Amino acid sequence: MTTSTALIDTHCHLTFPDFEGRVAEELKAASAAGVRGAITISTSTANARECLSLSQLHDNLWCSAGVHPLYSDEPIDWSVLKEVGAHAKCVAWGELGLDRHHTQPPFQTQLTVLEAQLAEIESLERAGMTKPIILHCRDAFSDLIPILKSSCLSSNRFVFHCFTAGPAEMRALLDFGAMVSFTGVLTYKNAKATQEAACLSPIDRVLVETDSPFLAPEPHRLTRPNAPRLVIHIADKLASLRGITPEAMRAQLALNCTAFFGI
Ligand SMILES: [Zn+2]
Repeated sequence: MTTSTALIDTHCHLTFPDFEGRVAEELKAASAAGVRGAITISTSTANARECLSLSQLHDNLWCSAGVHPLYSDEPIDWSVLKEVGAHAKCVAWGELGLDRHHTQPPFQTQLTVLEAQLAEIESLERAGMTKPIILHCRDAFSDLIPILKSSCLSSNRFVFHCFTAGPAEMRALLDFGAMVSFTGVLTYKNAKATQEAACLSPIDRVLVETDSPFLAPEPHRLTRPNAPRLVIHIADKLASLRGITPEAMRAQLALNCTAFFGI
């Protein structure tokens, strides 16, 4: 485990076509900007293999393994979780969860895959393979939290990625006991409720991420693709909202990342 105080972009999708042929360049640009690495997040079991392969090519890139709710109608090979999860570069399960903002795949399909996936993770956990779990939850807090509670996975292992909701949802996830992660949305002018919510969380339960290639933060909102180097702007926004220095915020976020992901 490292003791670096530099940030990591804890959630991006560097296997997406936007980054084809430019991952090394983006990771180098991130280092130059004070971002010491990134976690490239899996969306399907086929993509989990791609994420692992890519992470093995770069010292400062890690990956996850899991099925995103919006990809829950793609072919699934659950044996991939164990296969990819066995590698040191795979530091989390996910992203997994529920999405009521989009109507496809149908909610019932998302639910079936979520429950199967949690069962797989529980069985891997019984076999000694324990990792943090990245949640995708859009307009579905009241559906998702009871399902997580009924699993035997402990609540402090979960992070609600890309939090864009308001104080009520923040209180629900904090009461549950999870971590929360913010994207560029936090920097947007019209995100007042999310900014208000960002001040409610204990400082040691917060992470930052870009969710690249999507959601570039201000002042780069029109940048496409978004990229790991821009995670700095989300950390700085969080610092200004919470009234602490950018340096103190970055150091805290680096500690949180190390405590949660082990990197
Ligand atoms: Zn994502």
